[in-house]
Amino acid sequence: MTDTPEAPPKPKSHGRLSISASLKPRDLMERQRVRGAWCAKIITLFPDAFPGTLGLSLTGKALDMGLWALDTIDLRGFGEGKHRNVDDNPAGGGAGMVLRADVVARALDHAAIGTPRDRARWPIVFLSPRGRPFTQARAQAWAGAEGLTMLCGRFEGVDQRVIDAYGIEEVSLGDFVMTGGEIAAQAMIDATVRLLPGVLGNQASTEEESFSDGLLEHPQYTRPAEWQGLEIPAVLQSGHHGEIAKWRREQAERLTQERRPDLWAAHLARGGKPS
Ligand code: SAH
Repeated sequence: MTDTPEAPPKPKSHGRLSISASLKPRDLMERQRVRGAWCAKIITLFPDAFPGTLGLSLTGKALDMGLWALDTIDLRGFGEGKHRNVDDNPAGGGAGMVLRADVVARALDHAAIGTPRDRARWPIVFLSPRGRPFTQARAQAWAGAEGLTMLCGRFEGVDQRVIDAYGIEEVSLGDFVMTGGEIAAQAMIDATVRLLPGVLGNQASTEEESFSDGLLEHPQYTRPAEWQGLEIPAVLQSGHHGEIAKWRREQAERLTQERRPDLWAAHLARGGKPS
């Protein structure tokens, strides 16, 4: 068996590279790919799952405009033998299959081409329920990097040796088990990409939202002013900016106390005071 696949698959690029020429104004803007744009490289057995929801709405527009880039790398292409096997039985026995270290390593080496070795500049992530929980702080750190490589697991996971040898961080979407890492990858990329400059129209909206100051966001309302006999809180219609800010702060604190005692304790420990 050889260590190099005869024809390593080309990464599939999404976004700007896949647009077709037309005379619509947005497409004209799309020609200007931003140099050195933030890039997510995704190693997966299911490249067709991408861009998925990332191709829609704000993240999709930003992808089309070249504000970020997405390369999927098909793990199958690095598999062993005629059947491109990627997995084998777990050592020590037990149910399910484990992704092979040698196969995953070949895909990681391929992904590493043209990327910095410094993990702070280019993290390598294995999506895993066993990982540290994904947080807004991590999304911010990733948005500050040049890009990242994500490995989507399937079956029982990945041979531990490749995780250790490549300095891969395991990150979890939450305390539940999914069948694969693809949805977790999309969720984390969405949270990261919306922090990149220019992706959201209104930058202020990332500064005031949940988690950005350690509290959950206050409730939101919009027209109609009365709906099924229910009114928007009067203070929000008062036009008094000081009072509105105070009300929002109180609501954020109340919700955080009620729903997330862990966040509330951390807020108090940081010197945040109840208002
Ligand atoms: N046997 C493993 C679960 C494997 S689930 C265990 O008990 O830890 C199959 C794959 O789905 C994992 O390798 C991972 O890539 C992905 N996955 C499942 N749940 C996830 C979660 N909460 N966060 C991130 N990835 C997850």
